[in-house]
Amino acid sequence: MISGRGKIAGVMGWPVGHSLSPALHGYWLERYGIDGAYIPMAVRPENLEPALRTLSVLGMRGCNLTLPHKEAAFAIVDRHDETAQATGAVNTVVVETNGALMGMNTDVFGFAENLREGLRTPSPRRGEGLHEGEGKHALILGAGGAAPAIVAALRQLGIKGISIANRTRERAEALADRMKGDFPEIKIVDWKEREEALSGIDLLINATSLGLQGQPALELRLDALPLSAVVTDIIYAPLQTKLLKVAVARGNKTIDGLGMLAHQARPGFAAWFGVEPEVTDGVRRQLLAWSADR
Ligand code: NDP
Repeated sequence: MISGRGKIAGVMGWPVGHSLSPALHGYWLERYGIDGAYIPMAVRPENLEPALRTLSVLGMRGCNLTLPHKEAAFAIVDRHDETAQATGAVNTVVVETNGALMGMNTDVFGFAENLREGLRTPSPRRGEGLHEGEGKHALILGAGGAAPAIVAALRQLGIKGISIANRTRERAEALADRMKGDFPEIKIVDWKEREEALSGIDLLINATSLGLQGQPALELRLDALPLSAVVTDIIYAPLQTKLLKVAVARGNKTIDGLGMLAHQARPGFAAWFGVEPEVTDGVRRQLLAWSADR
């Protein structure tokens, strides 16, 4: 039950029907007994600005943004935190007390937190090589919408060396150019040379859509990858991509993408509803069940 004092937030997307956010936030609202609601809002791109301005008019706490709104929202909000500044994209908006809209990109937190959590989890396998700090080198495969948040997160984690391999080299170059304030020396690797580039890597990240349900698998021989390297895939459907299966089989530590999805929702929930939500095994199970139902 929601009372007249209930706090309201939601997610804007076009389409929005695929979003798992209403289910996730609804789960936490119930779990923490919060008087509030989180609603899906189907907002056409041409209506994004009036829709965002309406949040404060209606007394709403804020919203998440999903495709295709993240870059457009960056240009509309009144203030940006450092994650939005670093990536040029906004996936979370908080309405401030004066009605101003503050934009954040919580995919940065989601990726970083998933990695931290994965690294804390003891593994019986080899491959414990990545620790926060200097001198570590990451290879990112992909330079699409999710990649800027990953680069920003790697900076937070203290990773000093980054290489990017993308099928369309110009897109990797544009990403390196945009992030050069944080990482002056991002190395661009030709897509066809990605296997050689695995040599000496501490962290391998798949940020392409290869391996996603319904898409071709990521074809990648891991022979040159050190066994001490950590392998993470931001895809969460399926949870165990071919890349992760091959990495596990040869003894590398692996981290799947579901935690990124769950953790990116935490800062928004805390700002709107006043409770720091936890990503428990229950949350992970629910997310998997909901994503299988879509
Ligand atoms: P984009 O569509 O923006 O980018 C897709 C990327 O995959 C590009 O780098 C593209 O290369 C590459 N790619 C696509 N097809 C091929 C191919 N046949 N061969 C080589 N490279 C290819 O997607 P996003 O960046 O938004 O998302 C990427 C994946 O990450 C998605 O599967 C998404 O579901 C997942 N994701 C997970 C999140 C989480 O919370 N766990 C958050 C965000 C995304 P090119 O530039 O050459 O086209």
